Amino acid sequence: MRIGKIGSLLVVIALLAGSLYAFREPISLLVAKRVTAQRMGSNPLKDLPDGLHIAVCGAGSPMPDDKRGGPCTLVIAGQQLFVFDAGNTSARNINKMGFNAGNIQDIFLTHFHSDHIDGLGELLLQRWVSNSNTQPVPVHGPEGVETVVNGIMQAYSLDRGYRVAHHGEAVLPKSGFGARPQTFSLQDEKATLVFESADTKVFAFSVSHAPIHPAVGYKIIYKDRSIVISGDTTPSPHVTREAKGVDVLIHEAMSMDLMKLLQEGARDANRDKLEQLMKDITDYHTSPVQAAEIAQQAQVSYLLLNHIAPPLPLPGLVDAFLKGTADVFKGKIQVAKDGDLLSLPAGKKTIDTSQRF
Ligand SMILES: [Zn+2]
Ligand SMILES: [Zn+2]
Repeated sequence: MRIGKIGSLLVVIALLAGSLYAFREPISLLVAKRVTAQRMGSNPLKDLPDGLHIAVCGAGSPMPDDKRGGPCTLVIAGQQLFVFDAGNTSARNINKMGFNAGNIQDIFLTHFHSDHIDGLGELLLQRWVSNSNTQPVPVHGPEGVETVVNGIMQAYSLDRGYRVAHHGEAVLPKSGFGARPQTFSLQDEKATLVFESADTKVFAFSVSHAPIHPAVGYKIIYKDRSIVISGDTTPSPHVTREAKGVDVLIHEAMSMDLMKLLQEGARDANRDKLEQLMKDITDYHTSPVQAAEIAQQAQVSYLLLNHIAPPLPLPGLVDAFLKGTADVFKGKIQVAKDGDLLSLPAGKKTIDTSQRF
């Protein structure tokens, strides 16, 4: 009897699954229509409390990583959207997280290594077409930013012509295409104020990424909340100085132990040039333990490790990456992945974490 009931239930489930399969096309179209309208009409900023928010649009390095695209941090300060570095997945991840690239107000670059700028063209294009912007977006950076921005503008100049001709000035105003470079200079003894609006200040400071000069980190203050982004650097006293007492330190991190595995792999495969390259790149980055020491010295409560290298495709590798950090840093530590969101509501001390995808 009991077996008979189970049998009937299985038949019903099979029939249901069969019907769903048979009607998968109209069902998918219906879902797609609903989700498309929802996404296009939604404003994710309305759901976020007033404050400072960090949305990770790229937590990786130049090495291919399924969970982490090229360096990109979306910072939301109140209703303002700022992007720090524009690695290869920037525009796609910003969109995937539900934010509108058309609303990006300013972009800041830490330095001009290819992994920090190879998504800039696409990001500028998405920012232009997603909102019919009439003004180019300011791209702030140290000396050299004009070479990068003007070069990308040049490379995209034919595309601009095609799109204006196709859609018309009313949909895509020519004047809104691309970016305007905003070069700032640096002081050694203190950070430079590079952007200011109501309740918001952005400071830049030099970091140690030799032989790459200039290379900078940023400090962002909105109302009573603050974060520091290290940029690419070896352990830098400037990062420690600027991070003193901020809510979140976003620090680059490279596991030298795991990089050794890659060096050994290259050696075993008789690829001596690749082995040398893997060795060279360890001399201008910071290990997770060193980043943890900086966070402890600066007395920050939350350390978000990003620019993760090498990739960590297995869960156990995350443990290996973090090895020793808990011994030196007593606050909370997180290895960033694309889609991570950290929310710092104004007027509170809390840091809320979630995943946007
Ligand atoms: Zn980099
Ligand atoms: Zn770099």
